[in-house]
Amino acid sequence: MSHDNCHHDKKFAVINPSKICQPMGAVQALLGVKDTIPIIHGSQGCSTYMRFQLTRHFREPIEVASTSLSEKTVIYGGEFNLMKALKNITEKQTPRMIAVASSCLTETIGDDMVGIIEKFKDANQDLPIIIPVSTPSYTESHVEGYNRTIKALVEHLATKSVPTGKINIITGNLCPADVTRVKDILKTLKCDNIILTDTSENLDGPLTEDTLSLYEGGTSVDEIEDTANSMGTIALSKHVNSAGAYLEKKFGIESISGPLPAGMENTDEFIKSLCTLGDYEIPDSLEKDRGRLLDAMVDAHSYNYHRKVAIFGDPDFVSGMTRFTAEMGMIPSVVCTGTESKIFTNDMNLISHEKGISPVVLAGGDLYDMHRAIKKTGADILIGNSYGASMAKEENIPLFRVGFPIFDRLGAQRISTLGYKGGIEFVDRLTNTLLDFYYDEAGYEIIEEETDVEKTLNTYPVMEEI
Ligand code: SF4
Repeated sequence: MSHDNCHHDKKFAVINPSKICQPMGAVQALLGVKDTIPIIHGSQGCSTYMRFQLTRHFREPIEVASTSLSEKTVIYGGEFNLMKALKNITEKQTPRMIAVASSCLTETIGDDMVGIIEKFKDANQDLPIIIPVSTPSYTESHVEGYNRTIKALVEHLATKSVPTGKINIITGNLCPADVTRVKDILKTLKCDNIILTDTSENLDGPLTEDTLSLYEGGTSVDEIEDTANSMGTIALSKHVNSAGAYLEKKFGIESISGPLPAGMENTDEFIKSLCTLGDYEIPDSLEKDRGRLLDAMVDAHSYNYHRKVAIFGDPDFVSGMTRFTAEMGMIPSVVCTGTESKIFTNDMNLISHEKGISPVVLAGGDLYDMHRAIKKTGADILIGNSYGASMAKEENIPLFRVGFPIFDRLGAQRISTLGYKGGIEFVDRLTNTLLDFYYDEAGYEIIEEETDVEKTLNTYPVMEEI
């Protein structure tokens, strides 16, 4: 593994960031909670930006309220606006819960969200549950915003009563199809569970005549309260695990963190984690799915063997995909996440060591860094979200779109990569992308004509650089 330090010479700016701000993570987590309205305590632009990104990705109407702060707030504070927003929502709608996430502005001016919410509660009756989530967007990323939100949910709601024998699953920011893949595995094992949080319906809903009012699918407040009575928590992420740690500390519920079940080994690991917490029998159907993934990988091997792959996105996703593509016989050449994370670099060390690969690792990198690294190491395919399109075009390599946001293609909510079944889909689609790009219609590899210069270089011994 090598650490590219090409970004150290331009610390003053980030160019094409590969991360989003904390409140976006909060919204992503809250969209999986039933009957809940997220409010961004910030300027109108924040919630508009989030709705815009989420709507063009999921192609669903997204409801995010805003306290619409203006310049005056910087001087007088945001109390009036937050009170007004809470009043408006509670008068016009009847959510079970309102979650208020802070933004750059309100964190910078030091608004006391907890105090304001308490004041509102004291002055009003018959209110929904209102919880504050501190998501200062000038540090960390949407991954930490998601993490803080799940933690805030269990901190405010989890209540000890009767043990249920359920397993809490913290999904992290997954697409609806992948949440469904994970739920399918749990169902196959007959594992009762609570998903934190379940976006599978709200973000991939059927077209109905009703206009959207409150999210009908998702994890209920009752379920979140019940997380204190489960027998264990598994986070499918090494970065979104604070809620698991909280439940372990407060209620003695065993907590396991990661990895994201992408590919053969990580899915095996997930099932192993489930079996260490509960007494689950692995049915034939799951063994068969595993065998089918292996078969798909063997079928695809001759096409993607030793192809170089560059991967960017959220840290757990990039770790998972790096291991998965290495399992497939590909060579991860550049891996990049926007989140600065020691966990990520440690993961990469481990995967590199185990798989005998040495990718350029960019933790806290941007797409500018990544593009420079690709120019040095080369890549045959890029895996990541729509922001990779221009880079792929310039390098004349295909972009395999997965992650968030995907706005230049349809079906982002249905791209599944997790579990054995999602893995099969991923192997097929990734290999077909390579076939489209590097193979002719008869299935033969297109060998590029060598240029005269290359011919000369290949014919005569090359002088060693002095
Ligand atoms: S970075 Fe700050 S201003 Fe921009 S959308 Fe996020 S919270 Fe709002």
